[in-house]
Amino acid sequence: MKIRKPPFTLAEVQSFNEYQKAGIMHEYTCGKRDDHVENSVLFAKEDGLFCPTCDYRQDNVLEWLMNDEWKKYEDWFTKLKENGFKEE
Ligand SMILES: [Zn+2]
Repeated sequence: MKIRKPPFTLAEVQSFNEYQKAGIMHEYTCGKRDDHVENSVLFAKEDGLFCPTCDYRQDNVLEWLMNDEWKKYEDWFTKLKENGFKEE
């Protein structure tokens, strides 16, 4: 799968942040989340992915999460979950 690195466009930031809230697959989470119990779901800005709680940041993101492509599969993932599919 292709990887995107910053700087991200505003459209990419929006696509990623919508994905993080959609709850269809596992979100990107903080690499230091074991150190804090607060929110660890990363959010995108134009210069990278950031943890809302600590100073953790990440630069590598799957391209299909940044260009709205994931939305094509949203219904499909919803269907899987309705039928009892579980991640891991
Ligand atoms: Zn964190």
